[in-house]
Amino acid sequence: MSLVPEQACQGRDLKKSHTLPTLPHTKLCGGDTYTITKISIECEPVPSMAAKVFGAFIVCLIALVVGKDIGPIKEMRTSLTSEVQLGIDLGTTLSVAAVCVQGNVSVIPVEGYSLTPSVVWFDNETDAHEVGAAAVLKRGTHADSVVYASKRLIGLTKADIDKASESLPFVLNTSNGILIELHSGKKQVSPEEVGSLVLQKLKAAAEQSEVLDWFRRSMGFKFHSLTVSVPVTFTDDQRDATMRAGRLAGFDQVRLIDEPVAAALAYGLGRTKEAKEVLVFDLGGGTLDIALMYFSKDAETFFVDATGGEPLLGGEDFDVIVADLLLKDVNDESVSTAFRSCPIMWQKLLVSAEKVKKELSLTDSVEVCLPNINVQDSPCSHSSTVTRNQFEAKSRSKLELAEKAVLDVLEEANVDKLSPLDVVLVGGSSRIPAIRSAIRSILPNARLHYEDVDPDQAVAIGAARSWGCNV
Ligand code: AMP
Repeated sequence: MSLVPEQACQGRDLKKSHTLPTLPHTKLCGGDTYTITKISIECEPVPSMAAKVFGAFIVCLIALVVGKDIGPIKEMRTSLTSEVQLGIDLGTTLSVAAVCVQGNVSVIPVEGYSLTPSVVWFDNETDAHEVGAAAVLKRGTHADSVVYASKRLIGLTKADIDKASESLPFVLNTSNGILIELHSGKKQVSPEEVGSLVLQKLKAAAEQSEVLDWFRRSMGFKFHSLTVSVPVTFTDDQRDATMRAGRLAGFDQVRLIDEPVAAALAYGLGRTKEAKEVLVFDLGGGTLDIALMYFSKDAETFFVDATGGEPLLGGEDFDVIVADLLLKDVNDESVSTAFRSCPIMWQKLLVSAEKVKKELSLTDSVEVCLPNINVQDSPCSHSSTVTRNQFEAKSRSKLELAEKAVLDVLEEANVDKLSPLDVVLVGGSSRIPAIRSAIRSILPNARLHYEDVDPDQAVAIGAARSWGCNV
């Protein structure tokens, strides 16, 4: 048993302490008691992987000769699976899976991509469904049978639902829990079920992935436990519902990890033997989430000191800025009006704008051909050039919003902006150079972490690392 020294808590509310996974402890700062069950194999002298697989092979051989599934096979399976951990970042828009195999973390490709859209299409008549990119394609033709962003609804009660569903086009049935109506009410599905189908898709991809070849060939590998990330602001109901989604997906054991904690673990922060104040800045497609955490010196305890952000600031705002800039070079007034007044053309322009925005994270200037307004037009009737300087100048007010959100979180936690914080930048939009410069300018003494881990994958990597996978 280890007690966290009182001074490590530095006046924090002891009731708000949390324990870092994998570390043995039972009591924290004299406050609440938490018990973390460790997978027993981690505490025992661990035989090498080769020895285990060889042992398993021999046992399988004996079983084959004897003709039945003898006990040691089951034990061997359990011991091998405890060496492999699956972590999933179940995102609102995109999800990512990572596995940790004996200390090495790999992101799992699903149909060739590391990011899987958290989108599910349901067939009208049968139980058939598609998850990911295939479901996204169905949005054009079967809008009433495709569910996306179900994370916004998971675990919500009838009372919170109005606000959450404002931005979602679904018809909800709230007579018994929250159900999303599909096919004009012919079918209903819960947000947990949608989440579970996304988890199942990633689970299947992980079980088939190359990194597990060795395990699969020798043991017929299946995942039974999962660590899934949740926003730090999730309520108990939302957390319970996420656990249910995991169990529905076929996992016997589901553990949750807060997204900013996972991001910090992906960078190895919080596992060092010095106390650390870590600010996680997560700027995705639609929201900015910020969490300031204090990891105690004993590397066992952390506190979430403050959380904040901007619920309506994200990559989509920067797409609109670029779209406006793309139209600035178009001299023909009727062309810009056509883009602005026709929703389909505006959507097409936004798609081009997002590509330009991503290019501008790498280069100073990008020239593109605007989408054709009229299919009879010549192949490129209007081109436009956007520079990084123009983009940054027009983004100033959005950057200021992000800066203010960071400073507000620091103020709430009473942490000086000049202190030597560790700042982890995650989320796809944290790749925008102006975002990094903005953080650097307001936190001059901070150590920024963004290069070593892909910002889209950090949370999944941290989740995979969090239990029994000491890297
Ligand atoms: P996330 O929700 O974390 O996957 O972030 C998605 C957002 O990140 C989208 O708005 C993307 O356009 C944006 N994004 C991804 N890559 C880049 C990049 N290289 N530069 C700027 N924004 C990016």
